[in-house]
Parts: sequence; structure tokens; C-alpha cells
Amino acid sequence: MDLTTLERLPLWIGGRAVPAHTTRYGEITNPATGEVLRHVPLADADDISAAASAAVAAFPAWRASPPLRRARILMRFRDLMETHKKDLARLVSQEHGKTLVDAEGSITRGIEVIEFATGIPHLLKGEFSDNVGTEVDSFSLREPIGVCAGITPFNFPAMVPMWMFPIAIACGNAFILKPSERDPTMSLRMAELLREAGLPDGVFNVVHGDKEAVAAILAHPDIKAVSFVGSTPVARYIYQTGTHNGKRVQALGGAKNHAVVLPDADLGFAAEALIGAAYGSAGERCMAVSVAVAVGDVADALRDALAQRARRVTVGPGDRAGSEMGPVITCAARDRIVGLIDKGVEEGATLVIDGRKAHIAGHEAGFFVGPTLFDDTRPEMAIYREEIFGPVLIMVRVESLEEAIHLINTNPYANGAALFTRSGYAARRFQREVEVGMVGINVPIPVPMAFYSFGGWRNSLFGDLHVHGMDGVRFYTRGKAVTARWPDDGSAAPGFHMPTMG
Ligand code: NAD
Repeated sequence: MDLTTLERLPLWIGGRAVPAHTTRYGEITNPATGEVLRHVPLADADDISAAASAAVAAFPAWRASPPLRRARILMRFRDLMETHKKDLARLVSQEHGKTLVDAEGSITRGIEVIEFATGIPHLLKGEFSDNVGTEVDSFSLREPIGVCAGITPFNFPAMVPMWMFPIAIACGNAFILKPSERDPTMSLRMAELLREAGLPDGVFNVVHGDKEAVAAILAHPDIKAVSFVGSTPVARYIYQTGTHNGKRVQALGGAKNHAVVLPDADLGFAAEALIGAAYGSAGERCMAVSVAVAVGDVADALRDALAQRARRVTVGPGDRAGSEMGPVITCAARDRIVGLIDKGVEEGATLVIDGRKAHIAGHEAGFFVGPTLFDDTRPEMAIYREEIFGPVLIMVRVESLEEAIHLINTNPYANGAALFTRSGYAARRFQREVEVGMVGINVPIPVPMAFYSFGGWRNSLFGDLHVHGMDGVRFYTRGKAVTARWPDDGSAAPGFHMPTMG
């Protein structure tokens, strides 16, 4: 299917592209030009039911297939993703706006989760105890849950779905993906490649849509588990509604990631790292650094180093050679970000670099905001309290490492935090005392590799388990313990008392 020429995207149900039942459609826009690329169906409850029925029908045979067979299909899928990586990156860049290099990097990070999932025969191994009582053995299993759903954000249309479905299907589940309606085409390409890799029909399904589709997923009795990544208010709603309806839910929310720079840090290295972490992907990363915390007398030098580098960032369409930062996702997102910059000025922060009037020749209708830098930000200001999710870096000045840690620990978000220092003592103290899910030491965006788990604390994650790594395997399976004896006569029949194995 050549998706790029389609006027209206289909859904993917039961191993094939099908037209949606809904009559509601949304627009998919190229953020670099403002042009409408194609239309996306906004699924209704009937569409969700059709996907759930296909997944329910596929589940028993898929669950019964040996994990090694499932792993081999994923190995083929991994190779296909690698083969098509350049084209896939082009699609991500076209609908999202990020640069081609960045899009390719995000696909690589997703492929790493597939690679982790191909180890599923090993990852699913249980425990076995011989003779827990006389001639009684015990062992534990991890079994799939059934039909699982993933609801994902616009900012990583390839990687975030890949945090979820490779592990879910490797564990023997069927999966329904509801990608962001802003850049959903990548999900259909992954469905096609999964089919080409040999995945049985119905094991992976894609439904497009907005809150109506999400409400139908949360209400559907055949969907047993929901993984969500997106903003905090929606994450909270999904966790509360999904668990109320008896589902297992992990819901990752928004972020406000701080990077603390101590006076002993290598300033050039720290400033370079912060620029990439703040403005890469136009700041639309849940692990973007959005707050630089300058400790003590490093502040003036840090501001100058950041300003000097921020001015050199090349802004342009994602597919133009040399672009380091593309547009933001929609016109509404640009207006919201510009509104927050206005508010920062009103509330008295010092605007060091102003990106509100970014002008990209030939792309006047694109949704561009230039790199923006604030200094003298205080915690009560809107630009500190709210997740801006755009290319805006704010500096907060504090006197000590303790004050920096206190600032981070009292922020409602708790995804990631980083420290720049040459002191092992300070680093060890920071990594132990800071209350967030992911910590970087001289690493600005500490996104754990696929074989570790990814997730935040407080308002950055609702639920108990993080995504991918072993938490992913735990989330998509449930435990079972078997206690067995095989007597060859009736002499060992259980009595009426509480059995003990002594
Ligand atoms: P979003 O919350 O608007 O949308 C996420 C998903 O929820 C989409 O599929 C969307 O269709 C659906 N949705 C939106 N509004 C809804 C509603 N009212 N009811 C039900 N469903 C709804 O998020 P976004 O703008 O696509 O993505 C950006 C956000 O995602 C940021 O807050 C960012 O921090 C967060 N994010 C977090 C992580 C993480 O790992 N914690 C990773 C990536 C993005």
C-alpha cells in the first residue's frame, strides 16, 4: 500500500487495511509547510469492537505458539525495520517535523526494544523447586494477559509504540494500537511489515482516533490491559478509568526535566549537552531538558555559554540538509508555546533569546518557534510550573546542590533529572537523593536502553510498572504458581488439615 498517496487512511484489523466505520475524520498536516497531507479516521466504538474481535480471535493460537516461533517473527520484523529505516524516517519527519537524523535515531531506539523482545524464550523462564514437600514439586509460569491496547503520543510515532507492542506480542498477547491522530501513518507501515514478517492476522491491529476511540478502548470488556504514553491529565484519566473498569494500566505522563550544573562542571561540555537536550526535536521530547539549574557562581557563565550556542542552532524543515531543529507539531502548539513565552516575560523572567518570531524562508506557513532561553526564572512562574513541550529552556539560579535537589523533589513531575559535575561525591549524592525515575550523570537525556525499564515517578507515571525491559515483560504477563504431586497409589491423599510440606 502506498500510504503517501492515500487521501484517507484505513484502519488495520485482522491483518489487512480496512475502511473505518466512523464518518468523523481529522487532518494530518506537514508541520514544516502547514499543508494537509491526508485524512485520518477518528474511530468510533464499532471500530474498536471490530479490532477487539479480531484480536480475541487471534489470541488462542498465538498464545499457543512457542515463544521461539514468536521471537523468530520478531527477528524478521526487526530486519525489515532496519531495511526500510530511511523511508520510515522520512515518513516520521514528514508528519512530525523532526529532522531526518533524529527520526532515524528514534527508530533505532525502537528497534532495540524489538531486539530485547527476541530474547523472550529466555525472559519468560519461570522458577522450579524440586521436592518442596515429600514428592511435591513447585514451579512458576508467566502467561499472557489476552488483548492489550497501546495509546501513544505524537512525539515519537515509531519509538513509543515500539516500547509496547514487540514485548506484548512476544509474551503471547494480541495487541491494538491507537497511535496519535497527528502522525498515525507510521503505525500502518509497521503493521504491514509485521504481516510481511509472518505475524498471524489479528495479533496486531491499528485503530486511529481521538478521545472517542480511547473511551471505547477503556470501556471494552475484551481489552485486559492498557499502556498509555502522553500528557499528565490524560494519563491520570486513563489510569483511573481503566483500573476502575478492571484493566491493568500503566500510564506515562508529562515531564519537566531539570539539569543541574555545579560550579566544578566542564562548562563547555555541559552547555553543548543542554542545547541538544533542550532544542533537539524542538523540545518535544518527554526527556527534553527544560530547566537548567545553575548552582552558585556558575550562573552567568552558563547563561552566556547557552546563549552563544542557542543562537547558532539551525532551524528549518526536517528534511533539509543541515537542519538541527524542525517545527512544532501544530499551529495550536506554536500559539500555546508563544503564549507561554509572553507569560514568562510578563511575570518578570529575563528573556535572553526570543524564538517567537522565527522566520524560515519559503516555509512561512510552517509551525516554527526558534530556540528560546530565559534566565532568572522562579518556581512560581507559569514557564516553570507548566510543561511547555517546545524549544524553550529556562534557567533557575540556586545557591547549593541541596537547594537544587529540593527544587527537583518538590516539582510535581518526576521523569528525568541530570547533574553535570566532576565530583564523584556530588554525583553519588545526587543519584541517591533525587526523587525521579531516570537519572543522568553528565548525560543530559538519560533514556534507559531497551533492556532496562523506562518511566518516571509522581505525575510522570500512574501505575506500578515502567515500560520495556523486565517491567515490560511483567506488565504483559501474569504469574501462575503450580504445585504438583504424582502419587502412584492413594497413600498420599490430602487430609482435612491445612497442608504443610514439612
Ligand atoms: P496527549 O495526551 O494529548 O495525547 C496522547 C494520546 O492520548 C493520543 O493518542 C491522543 O489521541 C489521546 N488523547 C488526547 N486527548 C485525550 C483525551 N482528552 N481523552 C482521551 N484520550 C486523549 O499527548 P501528546 O500531545 O500526543 O504528546 C505529548 C505529551 O506526551 C507530553 O505531555 C509529553 O511529556 C508526553 N510524553 C510522555 C512520555 C513519557 O515517557 N512519560 C513520552 C512521550 C511523550
